[in-house]
Amino acid sequence: MDKKISKAQIRSAVEEAYAECKDITGGHNADYIPFLANINPNLFGLSVTLLDGTTVNVGDTEYKFGIESVSKVLTAILVLRQYGAEAVLKQIGADATGLPFNSIFAILLEKDHPSTPLVNAGAITACSMVEPKGDSWGKWEAIINNFTALCGSPAQVIDELYKSESDTNFNNRSIAWLLKTYNRIYDDVPMSLDLYTRQCSVGITASQLSICAATIANKGLNPVTKEQVFDAVLAPKITTLISTVGFYQTTGDWLYTSGIPAKSGVGGGVLGVLPGVMGISAFAPPLDEAGNSVKAQAAIKAVMKKLELGVFNGDRVTIID
Ligand code: GLN
Repeated sequence: MDKKISKAQIRSAVEEAYAECKDITGGHNADYIPFLANINPNLFGLSVTLLDGTTVNVGDTEYKFGIESVSKVLTAILVLRQYGAEAVLKQIGADATGLPFNSIFAILLEKDHPSTPLVNAGAITACSMVEPKGDSWGKWEAIINNFTALCGSPAQVIDELYKSESDTNFNNRSIAWLLKTYNRIYDDVPMSLDLYTRQCSVGITASQLSICAATIANKGLNPVTKEQVFDAVLAPKITTLISTVGFYQTTGDWLYTSGIPAKSGVGGGVLGVLPGVMGISAFAPPLDEAGNSVKAQAAIKAVMKKLELGVFNGDRVTIID
């Protein structure tokens, strides 16, 4: 079915969703990373970017929060750019684990590959793959420049968060060394883990994340800067990864109830991609049991419902002025 939605409808849907979800309670800030425990739990932002570059931002959309696991999407794109879809499938994988993001059990179960670049194991492997190999600074430049291109503006590490994560990432150290025993770390192990920790500690805004989401929805063409950041053939690959594991063990429930592939991070951010239509992001620190922001989930679901959109709805959507 052809479906036309006006920009005014989108603006109202975002504003209403924000107002309806603003006072939702429940959930807790992540506290296994001490820095995150102290972020104001009332912060809340909701942002949509359309494929012509139009943006709708409501609430705390310029607050810089820890990107955390949403960074996995951006670096998965980088290794897809550097190696192509086939090599990423071979060297990392594209399967949902059905288990928490930091699961060691998942690695033991699938020791032939780290499952997907969107859980901790696969993301550490992805950092190990980033070119130029063996050059920590060069690799970091590649990672952060890719962030800038996808988000349309620069982002920096929050030093305090980086220190907090580095001091407490014992589980991730186990993951990295376990992967090494399966020959799934393709560079120096401590360097690969450090790059992963650093990318998780980048401060990002909801408005930057929605531009990144829109770049994916727009087949790699950043709708704000007009830069073709990655080859269009990679867009369905990255959206597949997001669809299958973006919310870890609750991904199926999420996709079933929201209708939009999305990726969360324990900093409270969520990035959602509706291919050919828009990018959306929301940010609010309190998380549910699986580590996904309670308010961000509610807000994105509300926007989708109000606009009657869904990736599997079978509609041809046109946005009109
Ligand atoms: N840096 C966090 C970790 O490695 C990211 C986890 C997340 O956002 N789900 O545990």
